[in-house]
Amino acid sequence: MSKTIFERIIAREIAADIIYEDDHIVAFMDIKPVAPTHALIIPRKAIARLEDLQPEDHSILGHMLMKAPAIAAQLGLSESGYRLVINNGRDAGQEVAHLHLHLIGGRRMTWPPG
Ligand code: 5GP
Repeated sequence: MSKTIFERIIAREIAADIIYEDDHIVAFMDIKPVAPTHALIIPRKAIARLEDLQPEDHSILGHMLMKAPAIAAQLGLSESGYRLVINNGRDAGQEVAHLHLHLIGGRRMTWPPG
């Protein structure tokens, strides 16, 4: 299988505005933001979608969520709030087959999403 664009960002083969990283996750700004602030939080491990998670991955998913408030704070979104989204599969509009958490903020969101 060829590498996804996100694996290439992790490997530093493609430039990205990386705002946080540790042993398990990388966060960077989305290239096509849908709001004034739009970051992506991804696991270093290549997991295509939620259905591919293994029992040992629960800590990775937990870590992605647990780190979101600190990354949001770094982006100045703690007070105003933000939305976390996982587009999982075709009908959700998932374009990159590497699990990712969208962290979106800086404007008032509507509900339901389109
Ligand atoms: P999805 O639609 O799969 O949930 O979201 C994929 C996201 O990745 C999109 O918001 C898209 O703008 C972003 N994206 C795609 N390619 C790149 C890239 O090369 N660099 C960055 N920073 N974001 C990307």
